[in-house]
Amino acid sequence: MEVKIAKIAGFCMGVRKAMDIALSCAQTTQKPIYTFGPLIHNPSALDLLASKDIEILKHVPQSGNGAVIIRAHGVPPETKMQLKYAGFYIIDATCTRVIKVQMLVRHYAKKGFHCLVIGDEGHPEVIGIMGYGGEKAILVSNEEELKKIDALNLKDYIIVAQTTQDYERYDKWCNEITARFPGGRIFHTICDSTHKRQREAKRLADEVDMVVVVGGKKSANTKRLAEIVHESGKEALAVEDERDLDLERLKKFNKIGITAGASTPEWIINRIVEKIGSI
Ligand code: SF4
Repeated sequence: MEVKIAKIAGFCMGVRKAMDIALSCAQTTQKPIYTFGPLIHNPSALDLLASKDIEILKHVPQSGNGAVIIRAHGVPPETKMQLKYAGFYIIDATCTRVIKVQMLVRHYAKKGFHCLVIGDEGHPEVIGIMGYGGEKAILVSNEEELKKIDALNLKDYIIVAQTTQDYERYDKWCNEITARFPGGRIFHTICDSTHKRQREAKRLADEVDMVVVVGGKKSANTKRLAEIVHESGKEALAVEDERDLDLERLKKFNKIGITAGASTPEWIINRIVEKIGSI
């Protein structure tokens, strides 16, 4: 049996940075230390943080103390203010690429432009970006919302995307919007790490008989990788770690590919490779 690992698999730059910041805080910063929401969509990585006494803060309390790490997705500016007022010390691990989108929206909203944000409703990154646009920010997360913008009669406006959106859909929607309302400025804010990982997953699927997709069940970018493998006509087995591997099922394949979402730690990928190698 041959096993091929995708060239781009596992932590992206932003998630790696946030994880490094959290682990270094565990050694250098006085406790209590919190992350605002789960730092990463991966249970093993969260277990590691919990073992270092890093707790998860689910909402802003009336008062508190200690350090709060803002995860790679970022938060709205009001949330940072509320955390400070409550008494926390903020360690900002927002990914620089997400900050770029937040700053674009803040800049253009201040100039009076409408800011269309193409992204998933309720996703923390989207909530954070929208927070920088205030009442000028408009979420477009599905075809229904795309139709509704007709009522806005847009003149001065920009379009940005959540960094993990699908390239093709973003282009399609941007073309539709600018055809209806000429003059809008489109910013290509989809992270190339996401794009490269998706392209690589497709290439891998074309070369092997089936692909094991490693990542947390709640990770949107991991789900998207499994979809891409399916769309290529190959079987995808989504697993969180090596315990989910069905070796009997894998035995019937000659060439197995392995890819992993942006929040999958390298140590899990290595264990998966080891276990498949044992067949
Ligand atoms: S996917 Fe890209 S933008 Fe999002 S956290 Fe990772 S590096 Fe940053």
